[in-house]
Amino acid sequence: MTRDHRRKQQIRAHAARTDRSYADAATALGSAAPPPASASELRDAITAALRAAGWPVEVEYVPQAGGLVLWAGPAKVELRRGGEPRRLLVNDLDPDDPEDFDLTAPLGVTLSAPPFVDYSERLGRIIGIDGVVLGPRSPGQLVVEIDRQVARARQQDLADTPVDVNCSICGDAFSVNDLYHADDVQYGLCPSCVFDGDSPYVDPAHLALTIDQLAFRSVAAPAGWPGVQALLCCLGGPALLSLLAREWKAARVTWLPGENWSSALATWVWLPPKEQRPPALAELGCGATLERVCSAVEDAHPELRDVFRARELEDLRVARMEDGDDPAGADDDPFRVAQAVFDRFWPAAIAFAVGLLTQQAERPAHRDPWHILESFELAEWIEVLDPALDDFQVECVLRYGVPIIRDALAPRLSDEYSADFPA
Ligand SMILES: [Zn+2]
Repeated sequence: MTRDHRRKQQIRAHAARTDRSYADAATALGSAAPPPASASELRDAITAALRAAGWPVEVEYVPQAGGLVLWAGPAKVELRRGGEPRRLLVNDLDPDDPEDFDLTAPLGVTLSAPPFVDYSERLGRIIGIDGVVLGPRSPGQLVVEIDRQVARARQQDLADTPVDVNCSICGDAFSVNDLYHADDVQYGLCPSCVFDGDSPYVDPAHLALTIDQLAFRSVAAPAGWPGVQALLCCLGGPALLSLLAREWKAARVTWLPGENWSSALATWVWLPPKEQRPPALAELGCGATLERVCSAVEDAHPELRDVFRARELEDLRVARMEDGDDPAGADDDPFRVAQAVFDRFWPAAIAFAVGLLTQQAERPAHRDPWHILESFELAEWIEVLDPALDDFQVECVLRYGVPIIRDALAPRLSDEYSADFPA
């Protein structure tokens, strides 16, 4: 009874303070979660809220310089205890240890994006977001704020980044740091051209390293790169992580490949700005894991896999007629994509369709990126990553799949590159 009485007093006081009705105030107070008692509880609550919103999160379970750290897609989130530490500030100080900190001091949350923020000569300023303090909020509100700030930083850095070089294959204009350079800085490839047969470079470890470095050091990398990352993961399968670890170590790279290379579904995908967002992706933030993007796309468009098979069958029937074969035999035609190949590469098709829709929306003054449909030439990549695969089948999943998915998400966007099998 005493507790109830105290709660009624709280509700009345809140109603008076906020000029709300008693019922409104009771609802507002009732929905407010109690504040987490410790830094690790707050970290776990933010992790859960970020994952629920579709963000990939890697947790550092060992405190870093007195703080707890989360790597969330393109962002780094740090939790720190206010006040002076009670010991010398060394790496293993724990914000929840009373020997290290006064536990009555408040917890603060800071946001950086990209994870490694630095001064940029090209921008004439610090890139992205450099350790902004987010202020006291519930974990859910923190995620909304993280998303808002990362989206704004990307928009700002995209607007300020000079576009001053051309892709060596397609000629489209990009920033020099946004291209894949193999051994010659004069020769750079955009996300639509790295798998083109005209590219002299078939080096998965170096390409993966370029994608990682871009993601660590910029929030404004072209949105087509996550499609490339997803395709590398699908091609390499579970063995990709050890291949990258081995080759990066041999190249004296100082970090190991992260969870983002463990599965295509862990790829961070940038989404189109809200005002140009396909309805299927409306519920998501500025980006999400490919796993969440795939669910959103397929929930909104459950017909896509059937559309793919119908289109494939139709083209096989035509091809059989042209070759003088019975079109009715298309069902069992050896050129049909095996179900296992389809299932393995379908997420990469979604990553390219969504990522390139984002790239197109973010670069309205540029040529659209769908010429990629003429640049899926994967035989040499398959030779390196999984020779048992049939390159024709893998290319079919992408050449049919990408435009089918794109046209479902954003109808009538490109007449030039349709879902018909390119000649
Ligand atoms: Zn290009």
